[in-house]
Amino acid sequence: MTSSPRVVVLAGGVGGSKFTLGVREALARLGAPEATVVVNTGDDLWLSGVRLQPDVDSILYALAGVNDTERGWGRAGDTERVNHELQQWDAGWPWFTLGDLDLGTHLARTGWLREGLTPTQVVERLSHRWPLGVRMLPMTDTEVDTHVRVSGGEVMHFQEWWTRHRAQLAPLGFDNPGIRSARPAPGVVEAIADADVVLLAPSNPVVSIGPILAVPGIREALAATAARVVGVSPIIGGSVVRGMADVCLTAIGVATSAAAVAGLYGARRDGGVLDAWLIAQEDAHLAPDVDAQGVRAVVAPLWMRDVAASAAMADAALAAAEATAR
Ligand code: GDP
Ligand code: CA
Repeated sequence: MTSSPRVVVLAGGVGGSKFTLGVREALARLGAPEATVVVNTGDDLWLSGVRLQPDVDSILYALAGVNDTERGWGRAGDTERVNHELQQWDAGWPWFTLGDLDLGTHLARTGWLREGLTPTQVVERLSHRWPLGVRMLPMTDTEVDTHVRVSGGEVMHFQEWWTRHRAQLAPLGFDNPGIRSARPAPGVVEAIADADVVLLAPSNPVVSIGPILAVPGIREALAATAARVVGVSPIIGGSVVRGMADVCLTAIGVATSAAAVAGLYGARRDGGVLDAWLIAQEDAHLAPDVDAQGVRAVVAPLWMRDVAASAAMADAALAAAEATAR
């Protein structure tokens, strides 16, 4: 493989943005072209008349260095004056906070959508303000939701289940209505076809990577590309690092284990998506399990403590791609 690989990353929000920071750094050191990041838009939503794209914004803010690293979402130093007013009006969701600076992003995005720009064009515009060092693409221009069915049969928006109920209601399943008629956003299939390496960020397998892979055409592009496809486990030592991937995995009958998630994605040779799978040192004993599934297991430190640690993970993923190159 080339020493200057063309890289595509499939990513969700928090795990996706931390990993993307590392990929950007690793590629810059190699003098390689900027990565293309295909971002989950399954949890996008309309609220109080504006369009929210949580995962796009997490990646945008993190790459721009304006994210709130303590809270883990939104803009650093944000205030909530508008949110307070919305609550006085009983508008929106009382349990969902929209920061003032963040609302600026949502207003800009909504204005551009109303003017007729596609989500891809909107994401491109959002990418102009700061030098991001990657090309961001939404997974699709089609509006897709993520719904959660909970015991008792109630169906709610993913944000209601996660932010309001803190994932405390046992989910029976997740659904992306509309996804079967969605198309990959312009450039997504081309980027995968032209890549040397496709990386699956350590994002939530069910509600971040799952929707990306569910857009008809993306799995096919991964099957057809000459690129090596390398995933990074979001599960370390049998638990999620943060978030609720464990609850999501349980709901779809998959164990919270690095080997089980590899099985969920599947080996490319068997119609799945993975050539190689990075697992943490804590999970080194699972390597034979992963190998037996037809996916090359590579053990590496997987804690994204800082950008240097994420960049070392990206290096390990690129080396794994090299090692499995045809
Ligand atoms: P969301 O869209 O904001 O929920 O974020 P993602 O789907 O991109 O990422 C959530 C996943 O990131 C969770 O399942 C975590 O297990 C994983 N994650 C967060 N921090 C780390 C880390 O330091 N290392 C690894 N391997 N995974 C992480
Ligand atoms: Ca998300």
